[in-house]
This record gives sequence, structure tokens and C-alpha cells, in this order.
Amino acid sequence: MDNYAKLTLGRGLYHITNSLMSIMCVLMCITGCGKARSVTSTTEKIEWGYAAENGPDVWAQLSPEYFLCAEGKHQSPIDLVNPTPAELPPIPYDYRPTSMNIRNTGHTIEVACPEGSWIEVDGTRYQLLQFHFHAPSEHTVVGKPFEMEAHFVHKSEDGTLAVVGLLIESGRHNFAFDPIWSHLPAVPGETQRIENVTEDGSLIVDPRFMCSPNDQITDESPSRFSDYYCYDGSLTTPPCSESVKWIVLTTPIEMSEAQIAAFKAIIHDNNRPVQPLNGRKLLVNVGANE
Ligand SMILES: [Zn+2]
Repeated sequence: MDNYAKLTLGRGLYHITNSLMSIMCVLMCITGCGKARSVTSTTEKIEWGYAAENGPDVWAQLSPEYFLCAEGKHQSPIDLVNPTPAELPPIPYDYRPTSMNIRNTGHTIEVACPEGSWIEVDGTRYQLLQFHFHAPSEHTVVGKPFEMEAHFVHKSEDGTLAVVGLLIESGRHNFAFDPIWSHLPAVPGETQRIENVTEDGSLIVDPRFMCSPNDQITDESPSRFSDYYCYDGSLTTPPCSESVKWIVLTTPIEMSEAQIAAFKAIIHDNNRPVQPLNGRKLLVNVGANE
């Protein structure tokens, strides 16, 4: 046996020994799993939420991926106070009435939207992905929270997010939300589906009516958001990702006390507290009816 053959044999034995050790390790791991699971259960990942042990104050401690929730400097929501008046262009939007799935995520009630609805900001089109609700509102106006807030979440082709925020105050019954409110899924994980036509053929889910104070829908297409605050912020839930364009309409929409109570009976206190502006620009269009 020459030196090369000895070396090869040696390597072979080395590999065989290594493989045996790997197999033994796997066997030990398999047999030890029951025990290991019970030991690690106390350190399992805690799902984020809004309670003391998993709420906004500790989101960043629940996962390294959530570090921006503590360290981000462009976070949302914010208090909408002392905005700088500016000539902001109306934002064209085209929301289509359609079938939708309504899901109780455990954190909110979220309505998933099929493709076809969009807004256009600075010449870029953002597709409407979903809208959901917070109670009470996340944004405040001069320190004042509203009963609820709806977030219409959009995404551009390059992955940038733009969220339209609608503040909701107590007032008249809001018929635009009837199709959703009659299908509110009460149990976390539950999904309800709304079909877009009723038996008489009329459309029943039309997001245009939801984001339109005073039910002012014209035949003009696309419609436009003209009175709004805007600033650069973040997701208001983990992972608190930044570079989100925020457009919060200055005129709140109304819902009846019964409608607000029906939502809060299922989801409530799912609002992140306001975050520091940290030198960011908060703009409002000139002449917005504050
Ligand atoms: Zn939201």
C-alpha cells in the first residue's frame, strides 16, 4: 500500500466514522425531542400583540427582525399636529367594487382585495392589497384619538408601500360598511367571503363609498383624494418596516355607535401609540378643511 492508498483509506475511515456519528446524533435528537420540546417551550417565539407581555413596548424584544420597532427613526403612527401647508396634488384613485375575503387575523379584521384597485402617487401606481381597521385610531390629531381608523394598504411594482388612513368618528350609520359588518369574522383565523353581487344584481362592496366622507361619489373616474396629510413612515405593526408613504385624509368618515361597538366587540385596543416625528416633514394640502 503506497502512501496515497493509505491516505485514501484513512479518509474513507474518517468519513465512515463521521457518518456514524452524524446518524447517532440524529437518533439522539429524535429520541430526545419530546424532552427538548418541553424544555424549550418556555423560550418559544412569542406572537406579537397588544397586551403588556407582547405589546408595542416590547415588540423589538420578541424577534431580531422587529428591531426597527425600537430603533427606527421614521415610525408610524404619529400625532398629526403643526403640519406644514403645501400645494399637494390630488391623488387619483380607482377602487373597484368586487368580491372580497374578510379575515380575522387575531390583530385586526382584514379585507383582502383582488387586483384592479389602485392609487397614483407622484406618477407611480400602487395596487390596493387589503384594508383593515384599528380601534381606537392609531394617528391622532393634535393629541386627539378617533374611535377607529381604517388603513388601505397599497404596493407599487417596486415593492414600495403607500397607506391611505381614514379616521373614523362616531356619527351616522355608514351604509358603505354594511356588507363587511354583516360578515365580521368573530374568531381569530376565521375568514368570511363577500360576493360582489346580490340576488338583484346590485354591487354590494364598493370601497369608493367607504373612503368618501359625505358619500360624495361622482361618476368621474378616477376619483381623487384632495385633502390629506402626508409623511414618510412605517408599518404600525411588526416588523415596523420603514419607507411607507402615509396619506391620512383630513376629513374623518362616520360610523354609528352600534357599528363601532360591533367591531370593538371582536377587536379592540389594537393601536400602536404615536411615535416621535424625529425631524420628518408632515405636510397638509393648503386649504384642507381641518
Ligand atoms: Zn393598520
